[in-house]
Amino acid sequence: MTMARYVITGGAGFLGSHLCDRLLGEGHDVLCMDNLITGDLRNIEHLFGHERFQFLKHDVTGYIHVPGRVDSILHFASPASPVDYLNFPIQTLKVGSLGTHKALGLAKEKRALFLLASTSEVYGDPQVHPQHEDYWGNVNPVGPRGVYDEAKRFAEAMTMAYQRYHGVETRIVRIFNTYGPRMRLRDGRALPTFMAQALAGEDLTVFGDGSQTRSFCYVDDLIDGIHRLVHSAVRDPVNIGNPAEITIQDFAERILAITGSPSRIVYGPLPVDDPKVRQPDITRARERLGWQPEIALEEGLRRTLDYFTRNRPAKRD
Ligand code: UDP
Repeated sequence: MTMARYVITGGAGFLGSHLCDRLLGEGHDVLCMDNLITGDLRNIEHLFGHERFQFLKHDVTGYIHVPGRVDSILHFASPASPVDYLNFPIQTLKVGSLGTHKALGLAKEKRALFLLASTSEVYGDPQVHPQHEDYWGNVNPVGPRGVYDEAKRFAEAMTMAYQRYHGVETRIVRIFNTYGPRMRLRDGRALPTFMAQALAGEDLTVFGDGSQTRSFCYVDDLIDGIHRLVHSAVRDPVNIGNPAEITIQDFAERILAITGSPSRIVYGPLPVDDPKVRQPDITRARERLGWQPEIALEEGLRRTLDYFTRNRPAKRD
């Protein structure tokens, strides 16, 4: 494999930091950019001092200047949990639109490959199940989740425009719910919230009646899928996620079982526009990338629990 130089926006985040590790481990150079509003230096502190690693604190909605060669840009910068993008609605819209534009501009300038981290949220509250890539989605543009969903939909359109009109080599990964080490324990998403609550002996807060479904993919599987996509010639969007679908009620019970917690489950209001079902159709990833997830929920949860118990929540989490 020839060694390349990667720029990873959002490189101090949950997924971005795992990508930094993977690419450095293969011998590549990595320039990690993050403005640290939801990213965290603790995710990459072990990389400081690495000779092929650089960190730049930068908000990618502003002009991106990178001296020297760049071979690939992986655009992962964005708040990504519903609580985060409700706390940072304007930043979420700006990074998906202006930030994607700037990152694509850098790709064009450097003749680099560009990969957009998109999301299952482009399907909104889906009326087609499971979701395949040709489904156009059911998104409420003026609801509270619209800031994320529409920003990512715009980002996909912008990416395709740069591919078609500027000849930029692009990839789009639609990421479904992913979990694992380096999620923030208090980022508001179901898995870290339930684990934090179970470990603290607090009630687990299931929203609605818990009948809504999600399909959870372990981070190592996801990173492997993205890696294959980068090295493929697939310019169409590709779903990467684990098709094993589970209700949020069952999910909470699995976390109680694995933590051995005596906590109870309590029920609260369902957030506005919370998707009722979600499951990736991964036929395209199977056929064109030869990819499918390998790590079952039980194993993934055990690894994640291990991380959370070793990294007790710091105050600012
Ligand atoms: N959820 C929940 N309790 C929580 C956090 C989330 O019941 O404390 C639910 C949420 O309403 C949604 C599902 O769990 O139906 C997954 O939520 P998450 O925030 O992880 O991500 P989403 O898939 O909605 O983007």
